[in-house]
Amino acid sequence: MNTLPRLTRTRASDSVLDMLRDGILASTFRPGQRLDVKALADQLGVSPTPVKDAINRLAAEGLIEIRPRSGTFVAEITPEMVGEIFEIRRALECLAAEAAVARLTPELLEAFTDLARQLERPVTSEAERMRHEQANVALHMLIVESSGNQRLMEIYRSLNAHLTIARIHSRRRPEAHRLEQELQEHRAMLDALQQRDAPRLVQVLGDHIRRAGHDLVEDVLHAREKEQA
Ligand SMILES: [Zn+2]
Repeated sequence: MNTLPRLTRTRASDSVLDMLRDGILASTFRPGQRLDVKALADQLGVSPTPVKDAINRLAAEGLIEIRPRSGTFVAEITPEMVGEIFEIRRALECLAAEAAVARLTPELLEAFTDLARQLERPVTSEAERMRHEQANVALHMLIVESSGNQRLMEIYRSLNAHLTIARIHSRRRPEAHRLEQELQEHRAMLDALQQRDAPRLVQVLGDHIRRAGHDLVEDVLHAREKEQA
């Protein structure tokens, strides 16, 4: 039998990775911004190696773009990219929904009901908006997790980083009519789950994600126009 050498990953590289990823997701680094390896290494008090290592890993995640002879940049979020990711998201979630209904337990239904209830709460402040967004992400993640399909979960998770960036950079005040629409859609999803009606769930979930995708694309376009103005 082959014996593989034990790999040791430097702690510095992991810390730099977390710092850069958090910085991108928290808007410290903007989409399209150039990242200077040497300056980052100096700033963090580490050698360039862990910084390069972290950048390569973030490039694999799609958060960073390495352009030959040009430099390293925080990935740009385009409306086309958001539209494409939402199409894949819709396909994956609808696939997961079928399996989720077949595997639905009273405990899972309880968890869905609890999240749907959280999403009924009013959204008037930034803190409430953040909580609302988290509950929404958790609800959709629960559908995917309930499928029990490990590979599906992995692919689904890998899509999320870009959508998080897109949401953060196109943040707008939630419009009342959008929230109301979303509320109706989540209620319809919960209802279909309670009825264990898979075709209905696939229908309302698909419509919900298509609508949410259109809205986010619109927000990204809007944010872009504002930046260019
Ligand atoms: Zn939703």
